[in-house]
Amino acid sequence: MSAAKTVKKRKGGKAAAGAGKGAGTRRAAAGGKSARVSANGARKSAGKSAKAPAGYKEPGLLKRLAEGPVICAEGYVFELERRGYLQAGAFVPTVLTDHPEVVEQLHLDFVRAGSDVTQALTYYVHREKLRVIGREKDLVPMNRTALNIAKKVARKTHTLFAGDICNTNIYDPADKKALREVERIFAEQVGWAADAGVDYIVAETFSWGAEAVMALEAIKKHSKVPAVVTFSIHREEHTREGWTAAETCKRLQAAGADVVGLNCHRGPDTMLPLLREIRDAVKCEVAALPVPYRTTTEQPSFMSLTDPCCDNARAFPIGLDPFVCTRAEIGEFGRAAYEMGVKYLGVCCGAGPHHIRALAEGLGRHPEASKYSVDMSKHAFFGTDSKIKTVQTEYRAKL
Ligand SMILES: [Zn+2]
Repeated sequence: MSAAKTVKKRKGGKAAAGAGKGAGTRRAAAGGKSARVSANGARKSAGKSAKAPAGYKEPGLLKRLAEGPVICAEGYVFELERRGYLQAGAFVPTVLTDHPEVVEQLHLDFVRAGSDVTQALTYYVHREKLRVIGREKDLVPMNRTALNIAKKVARKTHTLFAGDICNTNIYDPADKKALREVERIFAEQVGWAADAGVDYIVAETFSWGAEAVMALEAIKKHSKVPAVVTFSIHREEHTREGWTAAETCKRLQAAGADVVGLNCHRGPDTMLPLLREIRDAVKCEVAALPVPYRTTTEQPSFMSLTDPCCDNARAFPIGLDPFVCTRAEIGEFGRAAYEMGVKYLGVCCGAGPHHIRALAEGLGRHPEASKYSVDMSKHAFFGTDSKIKTVQTEYRAKL
């Protein structure tokens, strides 16, 4: 009910702001709070400083965050695996060379569902992952392809165009050679993203806080765009070197990150308490992109979930279906995080476009795909419409 109310307000805001059509409308309609601001005709900042680095054209990420929530769909590799276009295990998006049109369509699906961002599918397209699957020679073309596809969609839909770098899986604080290779991986991927003209760069899914700091340093050194740095907390409530989530975010903020926070591994229920600590610890914008799974205190990460129906076998990665959050739960997560002051919101591995739509609607938005959001009034048995025959509605209790 409150969501519907907020949607109405948003629509009012849109009209008052005279915000144009299509994606521009979506951009202007930045959720309940911001919509109210728009309706008053005063699009003032939410209070946080949002200085853009030199050479960065507004409206960009920071300005949008100052006005309200920004939704970023992630979790492409899981969705493409489910659709049959890449292999679970290595999770390298070989779909970029086999079926680039599928990647483009997935970007479009997420934007249609409410994503404000088209993030290039360069996750796990770094030289270490390609080495593992024996395709190092495809490193440059795959990165370029991913960036080109995302740029095309971003420019067409007026969404933000984000680059992406991620966990290298070779980071080892005691191995100097490995650290040099990590630096190289970040430098080259940031370079390709900068060449492509990204609006900002996401660094994500690090288990080591210091690896996240290295990724941030590479973004600062090799590009001029804002940095969103998110990392993952597994079963233990700290990074692999023992930093708390809040402490890690403070370090990232001090090192110049524009947005800091958590992504992947934890579901909404086990990520929210950490977000509270992070929000209290930093002044910069905070990000939250949980996996859409019902994680628990006992099994707080999606890799730790075991399925009682299958001999308590590990559910990750292809047996997670019984744990998937409902759309209402994702909507509720978005509302709770936003109320806490977390404004960069998304869903990671396991997310489909329907989750992004639920998140958007939870924030009071009405993306294109909401045209088809559920309406049971004309359902064959549960419908309330006068055209539904009583011979059907009377049978409800026996369904
Ligand atoms: Zn993920």
